[in-house]
Amino acid sequence: MSKTFKGKPLSPGIAKGRLVFAFHVRSEGELPSEVGFVDEVRRFFKALGAARKDLELMKARISKSRMQKEVFDVIDVYLMFIEDPTFADFVVEQIRAGKPAYVAIKEYFNDYADRLSSAGDPYLRERAKDIKYVKRFLLNKLFQTEIDWEEVSGRGEILVAPFVSPVDIVNVVEKGIKGIVVEKGSETSHTSIVARSLGVPMVKLEDATEKLREGEVVLIDGSEGKVIVEPAEGYQERPVIFKEIPEKEELPVEIYANIDFPEEAKILKELGAKGIGIFRTEYMFLVRRDWPSEQEQERYIRKLLKHTGDLLVNIRIADLGGDKVPVYAEGIRELLDYRGIRFFMLKEDLFRIHIRAVIKAFAGRTLRLLIPMVSDAYEVRWVKKVVEEEIKSLDHPPDEVVYGAMIETPAGVLEIRKINQEVDFVSIGSNDLTSFMFGIDRECRLPEYLDPPNNMAIVESVKRIIRVCGAERVTLCGEVARSTKYLPYLLSSGLKKLSVNPAFIPELRSWLSEHLN
Ligand code: PEP
Ligand code: MG
Repeated sequence: MSKTFKGKPLSPGIAKGRLVFAFHVRSEGELPSEVGFVDEVRRFFKALGAARKDLELMKARISKSRMQKEVFDVIDVYLMFIEDPTFADFVVEQIRAGKPAYVAIKEYFNDYADRLSSAGDPYLRERAKDIKYVKRFLLNKLFQTEIDWEEVSGRGEILVAPFVSPVDIVNVVEKGIKGIVVEKGSETSHTSIVARSLGVPMVKLEDATEKLREGEVVLIDGSEGKVIVEPAEGYQERPVIFKEIPEKEELPVEIYANIDFPEEAKILKELGAKGIGIFRTEYMFLVRRDWPSEQEQERYIRKLLKHTGDLLVNIRIADLGGDKVPVYAEGIRELLDYRGIRFFMLKEDLFRIHIRAVIKAFAGRTLRLLIPMVSDAYEVRWVKKVVEEEIKSLDHPPDEVVYGAMIETPAGVLEIRKINQEVDFVSIGSNDLTSFMFGIDRECRLPEYLDPPNNMAIVESVKRIIRVCGAERVTLCGEVARSTKYLPYLLSSGLKKLSVNPAFIPELRSWLSEHLN
């Protein structure tokens, strides 16, 4: 008899086949606790070398005709961690102190992930999960407990696993596996991004390894999040055929990217992004153990500029506070309730360090400086005054400074006329604006009755900003910028610039090309 389990959709498409189970996590109880230094260091470097080799091979094997850019990017993030000398130094140091390599690897990545998750930001929490995948990938290499692809292939077409890494997805495609059911995963994890890029349907089903049986024939629907055991005839298998990115196609709307880490800038050109709508500098604060020095901040921003070429770059002043509080900010935690620019107005000493680093990184170039959470023109004037003072004290200033205000509070919308007189451009932060407009947590979805056309609060706010500032000066950022519920109303109101997470650019381009050209 047919039976349906409802899970979560992670990657669209429909696939049917026999289930094959893959378990690849060994319990730590089986591991030796006493290790010799030389042997353990050798074992660690062997695992590191094998991991690097695998990642390079993956890159070479991915078909060039696919939308492989995102996959490359994910693999680069893995390589970045694996090749980071501070990671190897840390592990060797811990082995010297008598710990097994696997404990040291876990400590390093758990600590990193904890720092990201404790920031409270949902996007950062996703990155924390990605970091845990890098950890598992390395531990699997260390213990040689990876998915045994020889064992899996030929025994089934739908893989069931507690979790899979992005690298596993590449193997899945190569071994002719048509779909995946995982127990752990989320829509925005690297694994899901890679599955969507390579057209592999994927569903998350809690306790899948208990609910399902190896060898059963199932159909998974990655758009609906369903797993149907013994499906009735009639459901059509439907792998998703992704449109190639319409690279050359000129759209009447410009697309920019919101990015969090310098490395993300590498793929923007190929994705067709005109530039970086927001570079969220706060992540350099959030992944650390203490306040970064001026030199460290400058180095970090210069790292971004190495990858941006001639792309437009809006550097956002760190939007600290709210759900983005560094773990080390104990003594001033309550000041961070003021969020964004208001926090720095209370901690001018920290702001001067931050802004000097930004100004110095842009020596001899145009600095487009975006101010977060602007609710009043005074906040812009305050930033301009400090920036001008700091520029005077430097030998190599930027060629020019262009100011932008992020409008993400109802007060900012209502004060837009005065704010606009102080800035050269405006970015609408639709995530925070939605949250403050409706009094709802950023992580919650609005109930449907608050969507347009029923409730036009966000649409009317955007229209008002465009009317006052002119569409050329306005970019819409955040989730609303890729929401097909909102876009028809916003684009017909003259909106011309959108800025979204790079992972969503291909589907946004496809949607726009279908609906606008
Ligand atoms: C927003 O609020 O919509 C936005 C883009 O900024 P962030 O998500 O970084 O708060
Ligand atoms: Mg915001």
